[in-house]
Amino acid sequence: MPSLYVHVPFCQKKCNYCAFFSIPYDGSKTLSYLQGIEREAHMRLGEVSEKIASLFLGGGTPTVLSAEELEGLLNSLELFAFSPQAEKTVEANPGTLELNKLKILSGYGINRISLGAQSFNDLLLNRIGRIHSAQDIARSVKLIRQAGFTNLNLDLMFGLPGQSLSDWQETLQKAVDLEPQHLSLYALTIEPGTPLACLVDEQSYRLGTRVIPDDDIQADMYELAAGYLRTQGYWHYEISNFARPGFECRHNLSYWRGEDYLGLGPGAVSCLNGIRYRNVEDIYKYSRLIQQGLKPVEDSETEILTQKELISEYIMLGFRTAEGIDSELFAGKFGKQIQDIYGEILTHYINKGIIRSEKGRIKLNPAYYFVANSVIKDFFL
Ligand code: SF4
Repeated sequence: MPSLYVHVPFCQKKCNYCAFFSIPYDGSKTLSYLQGIEREAHMRLGEVSEKIASLFLGGGTPTVLSAEELEGLLNSLELFAFSPQAEKTVEANPGTLELNKLKILSGYGINRISLGAQSFNDLLLNRIGRIHSAQDIARSVKLIRQAGFTNLNLDLMFGLPGQSLSDWQETLQKAVDLEPQHLSLYALTIEPGTPLACLVDEQSYRLGTRVIPDDDIQADMYELAAGYLRTQGYWHYEISNFARPGFECRHNLSYWRGEDYLGLGPGAVSCLNGIRYRNVEDIYKYSRLIQQGLKPVEDSETEILTQKELISEYIMLGFRTAEGIDSELFAGKFGKQIQDIYGEILTHYINKGIIRSEKGRIKLNPAYYFVANSVIKDFFL
């Protein structure tokens, strides 16, 4: 079953490290955006023939929209047929949540909130340009629970400028104290063109006097988190993701399993029947194209994926997950046995203990998750 992603490209303020497509929230721009989503939903409804298994409203910060705007957006999406058990997530940031907005979300069937907490250390939050404090996170979680949500993810970041292992341990503990069902952990990457990239001294890898943790320290932070969260009852089901049993993010699992998805909104990516395309990353151009009855797609970025690309991506994404790659499913999908394509390299990694073959599944040994990319690149066809 396909999934649906909707991009809301507005944030209260741009974070220092952000390379996502997001612009400052401005009420005068949201009306044309919302009209665009409504029209795009009508235009593209026919592209999904099955019921939708999951919805993800991401961004940006969807909850920066006003209560009325959120309602308008969710109303436009009612057009789609969702499976009765669909997982429906909205990304939110502390400092943009109010009880009435949460009640609107819940009224429209949203059943999962993903909160960008990032850190419980106010100095670090400030250093990376977040709009909120640690106290705001706790306040938001309280509101989310009060509104009746029982499926909550917290996003956390490590490798922040000046962050120590003990800072990170403290953030993990405070996050777990809030009893989220799911945690996503990301290492800070300094993306070219972001304010952080301009501020960081490339020679000393410092932000002012603050050292940015190097790969070795980041690997220690990752190991610390994986070990700690395991003791707290979280299942490490994907390289960057941990969940209480039964609370794995179904939307992301569908990406990692190579299933189809439709993306609406400026900058959203779709991949349907082996064709991947991206909507234009410009809200004015997006609205203009939609008004002209055209698909708001960036033509230069449309890719018709070859069999080799589809296989490479399937392997790359499958190795990210604890469930790994099901050999039978692979053969059914691509008409070839996985061993026939990767025999030599697969045997090499299995002999080294880096990849495991268990009960018809091929998986990356979790001890190598942090360096997964260096293994995965050998599987690109
Ligand atoms: S809240 Fe997220 S999308 Fe918005 S600026 Fe910060 S990192 Fe980027």
